[in-house]
Amino acid sequence: MTFPPLREELRGLEPYGAPQLDVPVQLNVNENPYPPSDAVVADVATAVAEATRTLNRYPDREFVELRTALAGYLGHGVTPEQVWAANGSNEVMLQLLQAFGGPGRSALSFAPTYSMYPEYARDSNTAWVQGKREDDFGLDLDRARAVVLEQRPSVVLLPSPNNPTGTALPPEAVTVLCEAVGDEGIVVVDEAYGEFRREGTPSALELLPRHRNLVVSRTMSKAFALAGARLGYLAADPAICDAIRVVRLPYHLSAVTQAVALAALRHAPELLGRVDQLRQERDLTVSWLREQGLQVADSDANFCLFGTYPDRHAVWRGLLDRGVLIREVGPDGWLRVSIGTAPEMAAFKQALAETMAATR
Ligand code: PMP
Repeated sequence: MTFPPLREELRGLEPYGAPQLDVPVQLNVNENPYPPSDAVVADVATAVAEATRTLNRYPDREFVELRTALAGYLGHGVTPEQVWAANGSNEVMLQLLQAFGGPGRSALSFAPTYSMYPEYARDSNTAWVQGKREDDFGLDLDRARAVVLEQRPSVVLLPSPNNPTGTALPPEAVTVLCEAVGDEGIVVVDEAYGEFRREGTPSALELLPRHRNLVVSRTMSKAFALAGARLGYLAADPAICDAIRVVRLPYHLSAVTQAVALAALRHAPELLGRVDQLRQERDLTVSWLREQGLQVADSDANFCLFGTYPDRHAVWRGLLDRGVLIREVGPDGWLRVSIGTAPEMAAFKQALAETMAATR
């Protein structure tokens, strides 16, 4: 027996995570580049100070005030009983797998997709099944439906917009898959990047009244510019939220987290105020990359996937040597860049042009 006596299937595995390197231009984990304003800092600090006075007690286990505020933010008639939250949407989705996956059950997504999904499956002893996206990274609905009917997954994970490709799904895709799955499973539309969608692609929130097996997952980490606070949430049928309560750890959302999220929600318009700017910067980045003769996936997110390079690592390294950190992720030959401020994107473009000239 080797030490430590780790579960067999975990031996030798690396923990998930992009390199956290201290470089001037960090465009690798799809963060919002704009830090909170002084007004937000002051309000959050006051809220945390108040919460601190109660830290001898456990927090509200049902986080009712926060659920109410999140329901208000989501609109679409979503009620507090339809909201659940945890420490980042990663935790929300792990809880979904703990409640709805498990031995003898499977979770399905369509590659290329978010690389944490198979980890939720592994950690909850759920079988992992992977279908495929088409060449344009969209879904062929007949093929996707056939995979569901064959595999009968308990959980379908559908990021929209997808990471790392940026592809948003049309509402028909959600409807087809919710109907194919039926009451045997749940369909999780992961809208971590939902606020960055281009005009014309609605949120799956609109479909909640039609499908009781639909879960829409969101996060405050991206558009809301609050990645450091760790707050993810979902909207779903109240019975689904209730079921998650069985697997959540008691008091999983600290009083400090709840206070920070509530204060941030009071400043929602301001925190979301840069979304339009980031969308514009994204569209400019896509056009610029295409002008360089590169392939770029259409993006509805705050990042874009571009390529292809015979040696993507050399390009990634060339950018890093010039102080710009992006991500080596997605299918072979592709790279992903998060959308930063205009000066950050100018630095990225210059570094990429230099690197491509040097590696040509
Ligand atoms: N879903 C997708 C598609 C993501 O890309 C990410 C973060 N990279 C998450 C969920 C999780 O984000 P968080 O835990 O910060 O909410």
